[in-house]
Amino acid sequence: MKPAISVSREDYLKAILEAASEGQTVISATLAHWLAVSPPAVSMALRRLTRDGYVEVKADGVVKLTPKGHEAAYRTALRHHLIERMLSEIFGMPWYEVHDEAERLEHAVSPAFEALLSRKLGEKGSCPHGNAVLPESPETRRRRGVRPLAEAPEGAAYTVTSLYERDPGLLRFLHRTGIEPGGTVRVLACNYDKTLAIETSAGRFTIGPAAAEKVQVRRSSDGRKRRQ
Ligand SMILES: [Zn+2]
Repeated sequence: MKPAISVSREDYLKAILEAASEGQTVISATLAHWLAVSPPAVSMALRRLTRDGYVEVKADGVVKLTPKGHEAAYRTALRHHLIERMLSEIFGMPWYEVHDEAERLEHAVSPAFEALLSRKLGEKGSCPHGNAVLPESPETRRRRGVRPLAEAPEGAAYTVTSLYERDPGLLRFLHRTGIEPGGTVRVLACNYDKTLAIETSAGRFTIGPAAAEKVQVRRSSDGRKRRQ
């Protein structure tokens, strides 16, 4: 668990915006989980954010961003996105390392440098994990034919479209098993215990549901005829 001091106002606002755009109902416990901080630390932070006009906490405990809070949250998410792309596209940093570096640097970017990055990279592209500035809800992904690897039927090959990026341990694990954005995963068997036997460019592996739920895939070329 991180000490509360390292979690800034921007981190809270960004977590609220990202959780909401993923379709989650944001309550205090959501934030404690996302930011790996204690419930009392979240309560204290929410009191401060409410006082300063960034959030509203409804009677049922649901946390909503005010327009001012939304603006600050989006700017932080955009900086994170641009820095990840800069590290990867300009400096060649591996995709499984850029998230943590961007978490540190996003707080240090001046508006002038942000404008430069934005002009060079644009706001529309995907980060090295395959994600846009804000995460999509599972429903939006499904409409594009994208679903979690955990739900992919066996016997087919899939292209990895994006990865859940807020867990560095998960990213290193996926890297070791050859699961990476744009890579191919063949599901050999869906086992009774919800583990999957898979084949990637790195070999054959068994992965559990906790990881398979955080990898988004679509049927690859051999399933192209099924595209609508
Ligand atoms: Zn990313």
